[in-house]
Amino acid sequence: MKRTNERSSLLLIGHSLLTHLQILCGDDPPTCQLCGLPVSVRHIFVECVGLRDIRTKYFTVCSVAELFQSVDNSIIINIIKEAHCYHQL
Ligand SMILES: [Zn+2]
Repeated sequence: MKRTNERSSLLLIGHSLLTHLQILCGDDPPTCQLCGLPVSVRHIFVECVGLRDIRTKYFTVCSVAELFQSVDNSIIINIIKEAHCYHQL
């Protein structure tokens, strides 16, 4: 449970291993395995067409700020798990 809360907190400020490891290592930005675009917290929760069906089962938002204001953290974590990227965050 503590680890879930830590991941939610990191997502809240837009940081994750998935999106920021390349900054620390100087690697190329990661790309989405579903659509080929650069991965970011915004991409996963707002933009990715490959994750649209999973997202719309739970919510529809226009921004990451709206996501964290209106969607419960447990739902956000469920979407991450369903999208199979939980271990990367
Ligand atoms: Zn994508």
